[in-house]
Amino acid sequence: MHKKLFIPGPVDVRSEILEAMGTPMIGHRTKEASALGESVCRKLQKVFFTENPILLSTTSGSGLMEGSIRSLTAKRVVVFSVGAFGNRWAKMAKANNIPFDKVEAEWGQPTLPETVDEYLSTGKYDVFTITHNETSTGVMNPIEKIAEIRKKYPDVLWLVDAVSSAVGVKIEVDKLGIDVCITSTQKALGLPPGLAVCTISEKALARGRTVENRGLYLDLIEIYDYMQKKPYQYPSTPSLAHYFALDQQLDYILNVEGLENRFARHQEMAQITRAWANKHFEQFAAKGYESVTLTTIKNTRGVSIADLNKRIGEKGYMISNGYGDLKEKTFRIAHMADRTVAELQDLLTLLETEI
Ligand SMILES: *Cc1c(COP(=O)(O)O)cnc(C)c1O
Repeated sequence: MHKKLFIPGPVDVRSEILEAMGTPMIGHRTKEASALGESVCRKLQKVFFTENPILLSTTSGSGLMEGSIRSLTAKRVVVFSVGAFGNRWAKMAKANNIPFDKVEAEWGQPTLPETVDEYLSTGKYDVFTITHNETSTGVMNPIEKIAEIRKKYPDVLWLVDAVSSAVGVKIEVDKLGIDVCITSTQKALGLPPGLAVCTISEKALARGRTVENRGLYLDLIEIYDYMQKKPYQYPSTPSLAHYFALDQQLDYILNVEGLENRFARHQEMAQITRAWANKHFEQFAAKGYESVTLTTIKNTRGVSIADLNKRIGEKGYMISNGYGDLKEKTFRIAHMADRTVAELQDLLTLLETEI
């Protein structure tokens, strides 16, 4: 039996999109491939509210995280972490020999704009990273307020991990001044895993050209330059199956559901889940910073989450245990991509009888 996924990726994929993954292949160096790439990129610009170019990478989201931190840091990066995925940026910096500092908030707390100000004002850094939506703790960082502070430091590049929020929550890349905004297909976009996308600013491209060792496969400048030379193509062989599916899913998001409706549906699902969590347990994220695409819930009743998931699994549902050290201490209900309010309510009703 297929289990309905309420986990923060991979998400369930609409059947039309699964079918689009099976579109017969085309040559990746053909005019059709260029047209397909262009179509996907133009639609992604709308979704990110940006005029900046889009880069596609046949990796999961982590690929573009590592590619961006390595290709764009010339001096030193400060990583603001609020959990497991924030810490991943720091691990990437370390593994690539990039000078870095990590500023980690207590788990459940956000990155505060004052903290960003404090570190950027030292003048030590040319790049900083923010996790928009921390999928371990269920914290959503205040990127609008961070954007305000950041205006004081326009030369410091701003990289945003929006892997688990983009397209479920409005992120206006140009208005906020984000230099690189990253997501991957298996979260709120509603596709199978295997493709990562990001926006990249002129400033980031210019900076990248001054970085000596950008690696090869995930060199963002190489990916960009190749797209100029062979329009919208990729230096190696891309997952064309994802391109076909993403092109179709973006049509659905932009023209059938509508972006604003998609954002509103995510807000509604978040509110329902938070109310349920407050009634039966407690939320893990600090008040005012709760994620819109998933809810991390404190296991205040000491329920065995592994057993709970087994029981609801027999009824065709799946939620997530806590991440890493938060296993059994918390559990997570994702409400993203094309999940409906009705499906979420069915899950919550079932959970009520099983907890
Ligand atoms: C899932 C996730 C990632 C990792 O993305 P992959 O596509 O699995 O590489 C990074 N950051 C956040 C916040 C995520 O939720």
